[in-house]
Amino acid sequence: MLKIDGHTHTQFSPQSHDEDAELMIQRAIAMGFKEYAMMERAPLPAEFADQFGGNTELRQLAAMSMDQVPQYLEYAQSLQRKYAHQLRIHVGFEVDYLPGLEGWTINFLNEVGPLTDNNILALHYLRGRDGKLWELDTTPDDFATGFGDMLQFPEHLFKSYYSTLLHAVHADLGVYTPRCVGQMGLVRQFQDYFGLPRTLTRDCEYLVIRVLHAMHARGASLEVGVAGLYQEFNNELYPLPWVIDRARRMGVPLVYGSDAHNVHEVGRGYYAVEALLE
Ligand SMILES: [Zn+2]
Repeated sequence: MLKIDGHTHTQFSPQSHDEDAELMIQRAIAMGFKEYAMMERAPLPAEFADQFGGNTELRQLAAMSMDQVPQYLEYAQSLQRKYAHQLRIHVGFEVDYLPGLEGWTINFLNEVGPLTDNNILALHYLRGRDGKLWELDTTPDDFATGFGDMLQFPEHLFKSYYSTLLHAVHADLGVYTPRCVGQMGLVRQFQDYFGLPRTLTRDCEYLVIRVLHAMHARGASLEVGVAGLYQEFNNELYPLPWVIDRARRMGVPLVYGSDAHNVHEVGRGYYAVEALLE
């Protein structure tokens, strides 16, 4: 199996603890990685502010601003060149599926697409309270505010998540549509906090399988992400083990992703995932 970390961040992430991506790349080389993907969160459109249910601070912490995009790409490409003889570095964005704002996403991807060689399709936002979009992975309090009604009936929450994911995978985002689905199952970020069931209803399982079929038809790969393993209230891989198994049997390519925001997170849990995928 090719040793690749398919999902990492950089100092362009607005979360202040992010370390210099060059140090992260050096760590990946030391760990024997052959490929490495810098996938910074794509900026969010101005129109998103009207649809977002959480507070402004949370929204601003989510992604870089539009005017940082050229700097990010330039920086990432300079590292790509500098380390070309040691590591194949991919440059792209973790692009959120924003229902109703697909037009903006297509324009963004058309603009940056020629400068990227890979992008991740992410689903960090889901419709919740007041019909607004709420972020799935901020804090348990914010999650409870946004999705409180659905928490009484977790199957509604899961159904909403996986049906939105199905829309995301089917969405026509233009020629640069992201070809990797990241963090499938992020809706479980606080599963231990809220006591969410670890199994899905048959309806939900069916939705997940439809997502995998849609991915397969589009030639998309699936990230096997370890970030949740290290989250206090998640403690699990993205996606669930049976989903990984099903994807593998269907021929959906699987890619390890650390979602590292700093040096010590690069490649974390890699051997456990490798053993699972072999
Ligand atoms: Zn990420």
